[in-house]
Amino acid sequence: MPSFRQHIETLERWRRFPGVERLAGGVALTFDDGPDPDATPAVLDALDARGVRATFFMVGEQVEAHPELARSVAERGHAVGLHGFRHVEHDLLDDQRRDLQLCAEAVGAATGARPRLVRPPYGRFSAESFAACSELGLSPVYWSAWGGDWEPIPAERIADLVVRDLDPGTIVLLHDSAGYAYRESARPTAEAVPAIVATGREAGLDFVLL
Ligand SMILES: [Zn+2]
Repeated sequence: MPSFRQHIETLERWRRFPGVERLAGGVALTFDDGPDPDATPAVLDALDARGVRATFFMVGEQVEAHPELARSVAERGHAVGLHGFRHVEHDLLDDQRRDLQLCAEAVGAATGARPRLVRPPYGRFSAESFAACSELGLSPVYWSAWGGDWEPIPAERIADLVVRDLDPGTIVLLHDSAGYAYRESARPTAEAVPAIVATGREAGLDFVLL
């Protein structure tokens, strides 16, 4: 988990650089860091099996490495957003606008989609990258619940962390790649999807696209 200080710093940035943290209703599942052959196919199958559509914030370099997977996400009815061309904190990038633009180009080439949503790595825009969003027609999206699935934790724990915060309007942060995390595989995230969906539906919640 991020340290308390890191988390507070992130929330301070959300105040300076506002984005969507919650919806008016429904629950939106979102998956960052893919597409990745390790777990994206399993996540797609888990969603399909339950008739849930989700939003995937893709990394441009992952899209270029696995364009067929990116296309499959879009073809199976999910929404595609941008997570940057490289998975690097925006403060550390030389040209932050260019990074978002390259990501949009990679996603467009692979899927034919023109993404309108962006979530920066670690949920942290810089002043420069936030300003670039409006120039590029991108709406910032954050989250209001997470599965802690950048850590090597089992599916049951991921589901527990998510469902305790599920209520109308929740945007759930999950990851369909372990490429930028502290775990070997993102498959536990795919394995957590059935329990998350079942618990949400028992509570009368609909799963919606952003
Ligand atoms: Zn990420």
